[in-house]
Amino acid sequence: MNDRNLAVSPIGVLVRRSVEATVIRACEFCHAPGRYLSLPEWSGYPGIAVKAGDPRDGQPVGDVCPNCGARRTPDEPLGEISVKDYRDGSIPG
Ligand SMILES: [Zn+2]
Repeated sequence: MNDRNLAVSPIGVLVRRSVEATVIRACEFCHAPGRYLSLPEWSGYPGIAVKAGDPRDGQPVGDVCPNCGARRTPDEPLGEISVKDYRDGSIPG
């Protein structure tokens, strides 16, 4: 292919918003969430409880449950579950 023969025509701005999802399961043994959380309702699981502002807040805990030490069921990435295109900057608020 010779790039000099390509015709390029501007067609405007296209913005794509997409949502990707991952299933993160609770620990099968102690039922701790699979994320570090600063929310007080999860303080019963000291292994995943972090203070507000901790950089781990909301992050996945990984392969081993930090609350009980058991191996966790791996997270299940679902990929892109929703996509919407907006042309010419017509993005709704
Ligand atoms: Zn556990």
